Amino acid sequence: MQRGTLYVISAPSGAGKTSLVKALLDRQPTLSVAVSHTTRAPREGEQEGVNYFFVSKEKFAEMLEQNAFLEYATVFNNYYGTASFWVEESLNKGQDLILEIDWQGAQQVRKLIPDAKLIFILPPSRDILKQRLVQRGQDTDEVINHRMSQAINEISHYVEFDYLIVNDDFEKALGDLESIISSQRLNCLKQREKLQDLLKDLLS
Ligand code: GDP
Ligand code: ADP
Ligand code: 5GP
Repeated sequence: MQRGTLYVISAPSGAGKTSLVKALLDRQPTLSVAVSHTTRAPREGEQEGVNYFFVSKEKFAEMLEQNAFLEYATVFNNYYGTASFWVEESLNKGQDLILEIDWQGAQQVRKLIPDAKLIFILPPSRDILKQRLVQRGQDTDEVINHRMSQAINEISHYVEFDYLIVNDDFEKALGDLESIISSQRLNCLKQREKLQDLLKDLLS
């Protein structure tokens, strides 16, 4: 069976990656997103095992020692990591999988899984990025200011990605994201397996 494709999506906090990925999954039910482990506290409305697995620093350290993470990074003073089993299991089943992770994680994944497709989401302006973080209404002023101060650092890594999307008009950005996924699925090697009966018929 063909292995699934791994997509890495990164962006400065507030650019809209979580909203875009959620909308993408609604439209493309065969895609899935890996749920990361984090030591940050849950936001209002966030659910264990849906948005993240929320773990203590001790539990995270224990998992690190057991080599449980494909990648991990310290982001905004907390640990975030992707469990290896999740990624391997999905890809081996032929399932396409999205990782919503920061640039440090993206670099690690690039080395481990070179055919992963790396997508970077940009906000339309710095002011709008700040506005979105404020409007999301989930973080304190201190956290928002810290995230804004880290945005330049995150954005400076855009060159390490395969695709760049500006999330100005949401529907347009979602369409851009979908077209990246569609183009990978039309890849000859992937199509060859799906279309074997047709190809056999046409070539007989
Ligand atoms: P949001 O992106 O503003 O919603 O903030 P989050 O708290 O959800 O994520 C914080 C940061 O951690 C972001 O830069 C994410 O890309 C990053 N992040 C989330 N999950 C992972 C992960 O599994 N691995 C890595 N390396 N980074 C992650
Ligand atoms: P991230 O996961 O990158 O931190 P979110 O998906 O949480 O970002 O989006 C941040 C805020 O911006 C949310 O309140 C979301 O509803 C809003 N948002 C996302 N994309 C757009 C867009 N294209 N236009 C206007 N608001 C947006
Ligand atoms: P938030 O705290 O707002 O949920 O996430 C902040 C940042 O952490 C986001 O940019 C997000 O992409 C990143 N992040 C979330 N999960 C992971 C993860 O498992 N690994 C890495 N490297 N970054 C993550």
